Amino acid sequence: MRIAFIGPPGAGKTTQAEKTSDLLDVPVLTTGNILRDHKHEQTRYGTPAEYMETGRLVPDELINHIVDQQLQEPTYSRGVVFDGYPRTVNQAEHLHDRHPLDVVFLLEVQDHHIIDRINERLICPNCQKSYHLNYNPPKVYGVCDSCGTELTRREDDTQAILEEKIQTYREQTKALMEVYQAYGILQRIQADSDIETTWHQIKKVIQQMQDSQQQG
Ligand SMILES: [Zn+2]
Repeated sequence: MRIAFIGPPGAGKTTQAEKTSDLLDVPVLTTGNILRDHKHEQTRYGTPAEYMETGRLVPDELINHIVDQQLQEPTYSRGVVFDGYPRTVNQAEHLHDRHPLDVVFLLEVQDHHIIDRINERLICPNCQKSYHLNYNPPKVYGVCDSCGTELTRREDDTQAILEEKIQTYREQTKALMEVYQAYGILQRIQADSDIETTWHQIKKVIQQMQDSQQQG
């Protein structure tokens, strides 16, 4: 099964992607991580580092290229849960031509909830695991459960950048939504309440899909 999550920053995509990965026993593919891992790889579009280190947006062609390469690896043969991909219509169409998704979950949240969530968001600078003070707190305050590193706030989460992110999200998500609606695989999920309530809805959809696969 191939699954992707779309939605605004702070909607809980990473958390729900991890839960989905555990349920189906397939790996999560996080664009941010694979770009970091392949930072210095020479491709015909340049290296990711050239963009990342100068703060420029990594072009779709380069991201698509690196994702394609990853998907060739045997780890992803049974399926994959995407986190942070596809982000543009170009990426969505590219993926659809090669490795079509089975379902895309759109996590819908109101703007004020996005702001609340991002402000309470912490990240582990070592292993990149993310936490939320209300929704998904670490076991020990300020310390990463996985590796014991001291957690930090995401430095890009200032109000101005946040509002810009939300605006960009609205435009990008609307376009992606239309694409996936046309493919007939979009599932809207109300993600305004806590992690478990959101997860319950997602799990139900996945289980229904598994049931109908078995019957078919
Ligand atoms: Zn950690």
